Amino acid sequence: MNNQLLLDNLRCIPDWPIDGVNFRDVTTLFKSPEALKEIADEMCDFYTNKGITKIVGIESRGFVMSSAVAVKLGAGIVLCRKPGKLPCKTVQESYAKEYGIDTIEIHEDAINENDVILLHDDLLATGGTMLAACNLVKKFHPKKIYCNFIIELNSEFPKSRELFDKDIEITSLL
Ligand code: 5GP
Repeated sequence: MNNQLLLDNLRCIPDWPIDGVNFRDVTTLFKSPEALKEIADEMCDFYTNKGITKIVGIESRGFVMSSAVAVKLGAGIVLCRKPGKLPCKTVQESYAKEYGIDTIEIHEDAINENDVILLHDDLLATGGTMLAACNLVKKFHPKKIYCNFIIELNSEFPKSRELFDKDIEITSLL
């Protein structure tokens, strides 16, 4: 895996969106054909032969690689969105954020008990978003859940992985 290629293409924005946050801007990874291909190839290497039937992409940066990898793995894509964006009946999950409560939702017919799910987001920080997404997907009783991130901020948030059930396999590229 070419970590350096990804690191060279990742942009960090100090004090955005608020003072004290060092924001990892993945749009510079996505605009590089080489970095984009590297991420897709790595994710496919992780998940080929795992029987993934659907990738659940978390709004909105999680949608990008979900699409590329789903095509390569022969899986479908499910959108995990903020409320009010999906047109049909949904199943929801709410979770506490630093300032208030957030909700995410998935169409109620999007996942079934025969699915093997790969949940994907661009970045793991506190883990709150992905934990809520896991709890949401569990409501559909899929056969298995995997989680993947492009970036895991484990020096800033060392305990995030501990939030997840041990049977949920988590991988990250950086
Ligand atoms: P968490 O819920 O783990 O604290 O935060 C992760 C969520 O917030 C992800 O959906 C991710 O897109 C977003 N996020 C938080 N910090 C960053 C960051 O530095 N860069 C990017 N690209 N996304 C972030």
